[in-house]
Amino acid sequence: MQRSTKLVHNCALTDAATRASSPAIQRGSTFDQRPGGGPSPYAYSRVSNPTRAVLEQTLCELEEGRHGFAFASGMAAIAAVFQLFEPGDHVVLPHDLYGGTFQLCESLAAQGRLAISYADTSSLADVEQAIRPQTRALYVETPSNPCLRIADLKALAALGRERGLITIADNTFMSPYLQRPLSLGFDLVIHSATKFLGGHSDVLAGAAITQREDLADRLHQVQIMYGGILSPDDSWLVLRGIKTLGIRMDREQQNAMQLAEFLARRPDVSQVYYPGLSTHPGHVLHMEQADGPGAVLSIELSPAVRVQDVVAHLQLAIFAVSLGGVETIVSHPATMSHGRVPAEIRQRMGVSDQLLRISTGIEAIEDLMADFEGALTAASSRG
Ligand SMILES: *Cc1c(COP(=O)(O)O)cnc(C)c1O
Repeated sequence: MQRSTKLVHNCALTDAATRASSPAIQRGSTFDQRPGGGPSPYAYSRVSNPTRAVLEQTLCELEEGRHGFAFASGMAAIAAVFQLFEPGDHVVLPHDLYGGTFQLCESLAAQGRLAISYADTSSLADVEQAIRPQTRALYVETPSNPCLRIADLKALAALGRERGLITIADNTFMSPYLQRPLSLGFDLVIHSATKFLGGHSDVLAGAAITQREDLADRLHQVQIMYGGILSPDDSWLVLRGIKTLGIRMDREQQNAMQLAEFLARRPDVSQVYYPGLSTHPGHVLHMEQADGPGAVLSIELSPAVRVQDVVAHLQLAIFAVSLGGVETIVSHPATMSHGRVPAEIRQRMGVSDQLLRISTGIEAIEDLMADFEGALTAASSRG
């Protein structure tokens, strides 16, 4: 079965009990357990819920995992994963880590609950150098946010296995439609399902998926104990989103490619970061490990152009945090997602004040190009 077919015909295609075309939203918090009532796999919805279970099973199928856990947000999933570590454990993180995960890890480190160091995960040598005797895990995001650097998933998985480390990939930017880190040897995949999986900027959700029984047992315990589970209604919304993930991603990616090529020709744009461009340093590696370049690109505006002027003249694209929706979203990482990252660290990450991140939606490309052309021209004529 092709991947786009699998997205539609996932295990949520029909409701097991009624054969309805969509799974039931089971809001029951508890399940009758009196003797003689027949066995139910469910007892209490924090532990396990039928609607959430359909989503968790679907995510397993898509990511080629065996155990999936759905959480109330991407950060709830990430926080649950970091509960797998003990004080004294050391984790190697990408130096251009997602802003929220950066804050979480810095806070855990400040409380003495985790030792961390940052590495350029697009360089195997840099990652190797950061490994210590106490290192327990290797964490990556590829393409990274917001500069779209590419990490070699196969090589990092091999390194992790050799050193006995848990390898963790935040696969939010690609979605399982385009990239499957577990199949490349990673131990754990994390998602902010708020982005491409949900796809409509109308639900917050997160997930963690693994093939390893030991990690699954501990993650399920964390999910039960900390209780950051995804609600049945929101599980259903993510399931609905997943059905159109393929067709959305195809269109969004096509728009991203055309917009990247268009913006690369503009004199008011000094740099375009997009793994689909052959000029991108990670282009070849990315296209080997993923089925497409995705729908997120970043641009560096020329020094003469003011970010505020460009943003003020955009008519179609919304100016907001987040990505992966059907509408084009433009964000300013330096003041938004990475606003709480200290300036010198932002510099190291490559997040300059002139950087704009674009998540292309499904609009007609002519309208998108006209929107950016209009905004850039208006902003340039001002300077
Ligand atoms: C948005 C995002 C998160 C956090 O997810 P939420 O659903 O906002 O909690 C984590 N990682 C990446 C790469 C993200 O883009």
